Amino acid sequence: MQISDHKGIPGWHPDENRYNLMPYRRTAASGLKFPALSFGLWHNFGDCDDLHRARLTLRSAFDHGITHFDLANNYGPPYGSAEENFGKIFRKDFLSYRHELLISSKAGYDMWPGPYGRGGSKKYLLTSIEQSLKRTGLEYFDIFYHHCPDPETPLEETALALLQILRQGKAIYAGISNYDHEKMHTMQKLMQSGGSAVLVNQIKYSLLNRSPEKNVLAEAEKLGIAVMAFSPLAQGILTDRYLDGIPENSRAGKDYSYLKLDKQPENLERARKLAVIAGRRGQSLARMAVAWLLRNPGVTSVLIGASSPEQIKDNVRAVENISFSDAELSAIEAALTGI
Ligand code: NDP
Repeated sequence: MQISDHKGIPGWHPDENRYNLMPYRRTAASGLKFPALSFGLWHNFGDCDDLHRARLTLRSAFDHGITHFDLANNYGPPYGSAEENFGKIFRKDFLSYRHELLISSKAGYDMWPGPYGRGGSKKYLLTSIEQSLKRTGLEYFDIFYHHCPDPETPLEETALALLQILRQGKAIYAGISNYDHEKMHTMQKLMQSGGSAVLVNQIKYSLLNRSPEKNVLAEAEKLGIAVMAFSPLAQGILTDRYLDGIPENSRAGKDYSYLKLDKQPENLERARKLAVIAGRRGQSLARMAVAWLLRNPGVTSVLIGASSPEQIKDNVRAVENISFSDAELSAIEAALTGI
């Protein structure tokens, strides 16, 4: 499906009040402020998606103060198409707001065939960012990430690649993703010895995935690295989406999705219990799941996905109430562990 230019979409100007509700958070080590909610384009921006809706969703994000859009070379499907489609929408709606936006991309996972299309080598990262810039039509990324550690590439080489990208002006900041606390520590030291720093580690963190609490959050704070929590809604499980079955147009209902609900009946049960607690707080389950992450000042930004402007509107309202009573926190733990 292609974007049908401006047909049906009257001229758009972002909401003038867009900076009034969204809080912006930073680490002590950098002046860069992230919106409490950031928006990722892993899903819903590929060639097989409804790009009119994708465009309205991006507009809605910016209208609500979400200034950060997150991409990767292989988002789609097919690989690369999310960057291309983002580029088309960007040129129509966001070109004059480039300076108000943080746009990121990544390389690390599988992108093209042969030995140079994945990993952490200089060859892969430098070639990939060049392609990502072409696909999006951007002159630079605000943040460029190494998407995942590569056991076959010494971290020294990956650090040199990120430093070179920064020196070339192709990205303003460097990020890492899916790095454990030890690799994050080593990478930070390498980047600092090269006169720069890792700005942010993008990690999977949600009510249903608590592994960062073991070491990564504490180490990130020590190192002054921002924490970007991805899949905060567990791809939709922590919303009302699947409480009554699998809707046809949902992520779990799509063939090419990684979300397989039949493999996690316990998580659906947990979501049902959490929804009751959210209801008592006057929040949707999605809002409570985002608020629960934001209550921790160690989480710099919560990186949501959304397939509609309505979902954005729901999720941003999480910031209205991010405090939890002890009783609520205990009830949440009981809902998570009592299954
Ligand atoms: P989420 O956990 O936020 O899941 C998003 C999905 O949840 C949406 O597509 C939608 O599903 C559903 N949803 C969202 N809001 C609502 C709502 N209010 N009510 C009902 N359903 C809702 O995040 P993602 O898994 O999409 O990940 C977010 C971003 O994180 C990615 O786009 C990417 O940028 C980044 N990421 C990074 C990774 C890495 O390795 N660094 C890996 C994975 C993600 P539906 O489509 O069914 O409507």
